[in-house]
Amino acid sequence: MPRFFITGRPENGLLTLRGEDAHHAGRVLRLRQGEAVTLCDGEETDYDCTVETITKDEVVCRVVDTHAAGTEPKQRLTLFMALPKGDKMDLIVQKAVELGAQEIVPYLSRNCVSRPEKTEKKVERWQRIAAEAAKQCGRGRLPAVCAVVPFAEAVLRAAESETALFFYENEKMVGLRSALESGMGDTVSLMVGPEGGFTPEEAAEAEQAGLKSVSLGTRILRCETAPIAALAAVLYAGGNM
Ligand code: SAM
Repeated sequence: MPRFFITGRPENGLLTLRGEDAHHAGRVLRLRQGEAVTLCDGEETDYDCTVETITKDEVVCRVVDTHAAGTEPKQRLTLFMALPKGDKMDLIVQKAVELGAQEIVPYLSRNCVSRPEKTEKKVERWQRIAAEAAKQCGRGRLPAVCAVVPFAEAVLRAAESETALFFYENEKMVGLRSALESGMGDTVSLMVGPEGGFTPEEAAEAEQAGLKSVSLGTRILRCETAPIAALAAVLYAGGNM
């Protein structure tokens, strides 16, 4: 079922797609009058609709049913991801959205090889990838990709969550299972490093700020594998699977 995020509420039982979404619905999906489409308000309400009228600029939809999207995880998950090389962040953003992350915070740490001067265009691209992934997997909220921040700021923001996990490749004592044994809060931060990993000083700074240093097991996962594995495990532990 085609899905779009919209703003605003129905008026006289109608909702309208405009701009890029109207173009996508009409020209790409070639939706026709009477066809079904779901419009989500981004706050976990879905409007099941049928297409009423369609022009190149507008697709007017008639609301047939309104219900909770029911697709968000129980916890609010925020992924703090060190900037990886190449286009790995495209994959990480897409999978993090499918897995239920509500916010993705890219950050620059000591061992980040990729240190672009300007990141605005990259963040815009990642936000588009997040929106496409959210539509594809049926999210009830549109996840946000934030501006790139320094490691120190990422740590402080991650520490604001009730459960703040620092996935550290050199952590030998605490596994994820034991770290979550006493349960997890309604807000969970997951912090993952770049290809070169974290420095001991960064691990100490994270611990100092209150993040829990956690192992993902005895093997070293690639920086694009680790966030996917960590999110899946936290989702499972949080009763979402
Ligand atoms: N350069 C590091 C090394 O060789 O030890 C590997 C870094 S790994 C490619 C990238 C990130 O994934 C790490 O900083 C960490 O956040 C996460 N990660 C990978 N394997 C992990 C593991 N077994 N336990 C915890 N975190 C892991």
